[in-house]
Amino acid sequence: MKKLWMGFAVVLLGLFAAVVAEEAAKKETVVKEGQIVCVGCHLEKQYGAEAQCTLYAKHAQGLLAADGTLWTFLDNTRGHSFITEKKLLGKPIRVHACAFPKAQVLEALTYELKEGEAWVAYDFCKNCGWEKGDHKGKDLCRDCEKP
Ligand SMILES: [Zn+2]
Ligand SMILES: [Zn+2]
Repeated sequence: MKKLWMGFAVVLLGLFAAVVAEEAAKKETVVKEGQIVCVGCHLEKQYGAEAQCTLYAKHAQGLLAADGTLWTFLDNTRGHSFITEKKLLGKPIRVHACAFPKAQVLEALTYELKEGEAWVAYDFCKNCGWEKGDHKGKDLCRDCEKP
């Protein structure tokens, strides 16, 4: 009888572990505050990396978060501007994004820029690109959504 209970306990533990692993393996939505930096130049300055920015990465940008962690962006429609837009360099920013287990990669959703004391929201429109405002999760801004 004791053996049966042990077996039952092992099965339960296994199920529990599987549920926890499943839970942990999902992407989650995060808000990261910090500033946009050139990843290569930052690593070169901080740790002596041989970045060769001008030759290969063309100063591809990432997010240096307030806690000192460095994040790269998934290079998709929304993320591409963070990687290439020089106007964002060095500005206080809050990036709303998806983050993934064990990876310091952000899949950008929206962002906020600090203007004076206020945080101003920016959202992405499939036609217009990034612009001020909040499209409430839609792909198009209000102007483009009109028939
Ligand atoms: Zn660089
Ligand atoms: Zn639009």
